[in-house]
Amino acid sequence: MRTVITGGAGFVGSHLCERFLAEGHEVVVVDNLLTGNLDNIDHLRSKKAFTFLLHNISEPIQIDGPVDNILHFASPASPADYLAHPIPTLKVGSLGTHNALGLAKAKDARILLASTSEVYGDPEVHPQREDYWGNVNPIGPRGCYDEAKRFAEAITMAYHRYHGVKTRIVRIFNTYGPRMRLNDGRVLPAFMGQVLRGEDLTVFGEGQQTRSFCYVTDLVDGIYRLLHCDFSEPVNIGNPVEITVLELAKEIIEMIPESKSKIIYNPLPQDDPKRRKPDITRAQTLLGWEPTIERADGLQRTLEYFRSVL
Ligand code: UDP
Repeated sequence: MRTVITGGAGFVGSHLCERFLAEGHEVVVVDNLLTGNLDNIDHLRSKKAFTFLLHNISEPIQIDGPVDNILHFASPASPADYLAHPIPTLKVGSLGTHNALGLAKAKDARILLASTSEVYGDPEVHPQREDYWGNVNPIGPRGCYDEAKRFAEAITMAYHRYHGVKTRIVRIFNTYGPRMRLNDGRVLPAFMGQVLRGEDLTVFGEGQQTRSFCYVTDLVDGIYRLLHCDFSEPVNIGNPVEITVLELAKEIIEMIPESKSKIIYNPLPQDDPKRRKPDITRAQTLLGWEPTIERADGLQRTLEYFRSVL
């Protein structure tokens, strides 16, 4: 099996590389390192089965030889990153997905699109099921990411229906773990960086908004199963255990008993989703998948990682 992973030098991408190499695949990473980092795949680069191509998938791509699978994960993915790079975000969701689908069609490969819970926007249905169409502001600050991913889903379904390409769509909910960037602006690295530096934790709004955090190896396992399942409609992969941002801040402070960090309140960003929690019935029934890593365990492993890179 030869598997192309766009965005393979990113946080989730690098964990996918590890898993697919461990399953005996040849792995070809395509990444332009806009938000990815070679440090994430440094330990893999000497392996014979591993190739790295410095390339922006929003530009046309040619890959020599057979390709069996494509995992399209290239995109800025944290709100801070896509706010800083709105046009590359729109391009990789649209042109990049088009190029990845074209490659899948040419090689007769399976392709799995990394979509997102952001397609549900600020959801009016809770928990979010795959048949909910979402509540997205197309012209708000998050529109560049949300609409790029919604377009990506639409063109993926079109390639499936019109060209018969074997497509998969995973809707990824908040995921965390080693190799997140400390400064990617997401809540978990932000809070952990702050507590490790002895700074106060910046809760946005009153911290009553909720998220549901999935440990990265659980996510990767769901993706691996989905790729091998003959199902082209979207599948939520995430951890359904919901927590408020304020509770998360308190949990992270408690992980360092001697911590003097306090909680401070900053303004809530525009269009920040108020509640988010996946309904994972489809993943459970279709893939026999559910998360296995408890938050306390996952948070501990992640804190150790951030301690090692600070
Ligand atoms: N958040 C926060 N403090 C921070 C960063 C984020 O309170 O320093 C909040 C943010 O407003 C949102 C939640 O944490 O409600 C998750 O934000 P994140 O950027 O991780 O991703 P999102 O789930 O919004 O895509």
